[in-house]
Amino acid sequence: MPKSLSLADRTAILMAKLAAASIRKLNLGLGSNLPGRIARKISPTVLKNLSAQSTRGVIAVTGTNGKSTTSGILSSILRSAGFTFAHNRQGANLVTGITASMVETAAWNGDVRADLCLFEIDEAALPVVAREVHINGVVVTNLFRDQLDRFGELDTTARLITTGVDINKSQAILNADDPNVAQMKLDGKHLFFGIESTEGEAAAGSQSELAYCGNCSEEVRYSRLFYGQLGHWHCPKCNHARPKPDVYATNVVVGATSSRFNLTVAGKEVDCVLPLPGLFNVYNALAAAAAAHWLSVSIPAIRAGLKDYSTLFGRSERIKINGKEVIVQLIKNPAGASQAVASCVKDPKARVMIAINDNLADGRDISWLWDADFELLGGGGVHIIVSGQRAQDMAVRMKYAGVDAALITTEPHLQAALNAGLDSLQPGETLWLMPTYTCLLELQKIFKTMGHAMSGT
Ligand SMILES: [Zn+2]
Repeated sequence: MPKSLSLADRTAILMAKLAAASIRKLNLGLGSNLPGRIARKISPTVLKNLSAQSTRGVIAVTGTNGKSTTSGILSSILRSAGFTFAHNRQGANLVTGITASMVETAAWNGDVRADLCLFEIDEAALPVVAREVHINGVVVTNLFRDQLDRFGELDTTARLITTGVDINKSQAILNADDPNVAQMKLDGKHLFFGIESTEGEAAAGSQSELAYCGNCSEEVRYSRLFYGQLGHWHCPKCNHARPKPDVYATNVVVGATSSRFNLTVAGKEVDCVLPLPGLFNVYNALAAAAAAHWLSVSIPAIRAGLKDYSTLFGRSERIKINGKEVIVQLIKNPAGASQAVASCVKDPKARVMIAINDNLADGRDISWLWDADFELLGGGGVHIIVSGQRAQDMAVRMKYAGVDAALITTEPHLQAALNAGLDSLQPGETLWLMPTYTCLLELQKIFKTMGHAMSGT
């Protein structure tokens, strides 16, 4: 039994494990926070003492977007490199969820056999966790202004992260291309990642976010812009500029389901394949590669980890919300959407909700909706809720697919649409939820507020 654990710690682990087992057995769907809450009540030092057992310390992933994907890719790389590690993969990224994941990782006697703890941490929770746990390294993916941002001000979020990193003078692994991240003034060492060059369409970014110089407050300009406020930035007034990244991608080619790029780490270049679409996922891969490099993972292991990354995100996932059955299937192209619809119509007890956004990550052009086989839903008498920013367009698409107008409910607001969908379910029925990428990201946040975390993003 680990000597570092007090009697209170051991009691806490035992009680929390029993609670977790009961929750699973009774199918209560209370999410993954309650065992953590119980453990912390019994022993406030339980997280500290459990994580202290890892031989190579703790690495945290934070930032407004991409935390789950970045930590997912990093765990794939760590597996390739033969590391054992604890990871709060349920996406419960507040201190109670992180405690719950450590309790789950530990044996009944409190033994944690892990080289490393990998924590995905909410920006606001970072200082809370950092005061308890010695965090060796912190990856900051990006800092986007988010319409759902609970903290309102980007400055507040930046301050929370800076405070969290400085508590342990953690090694910072930062996005060089995001002026909001690259300009953070931190006490510890820095390592930067970024995109050097892209090929074709991916290069044609448009600036949707303003960013400012940390020295003189002037608005930064870009010699290359990838998306949002991410790119090769510089201050026109004081010449403060994007730092040269230590880990970077060149010749990035983004495809419909995967991306290719040349990865340079420590001056060595290798060609990489990432089985995820979107430039934002290339940033997530670079963040993970930079963290892995800092952990002394070899370049072949990084390359293998990127290639082998597989995610539940995008595969269909069955979840239970408030005791009701929901199947979630990401749709992002005609082939995938047609498959999702084909599976759904096989279920005689299906109710359907389709949520379409047209943000950059979804693809601005939604004309692909006309190439997907929504006709399968026509004439079946199935009630369909359409939601998201392009709910109206989807309603029109449904009418053309032959769905009776009286069976279509248009509710652009996702939470309201989800509530309506859940409320409409009769016993034995399942809600088939088909969101685009950013709708799914929003829905995951909504699921969390309802006490349910999806298994992986
Ligand atoms: Zn300046």
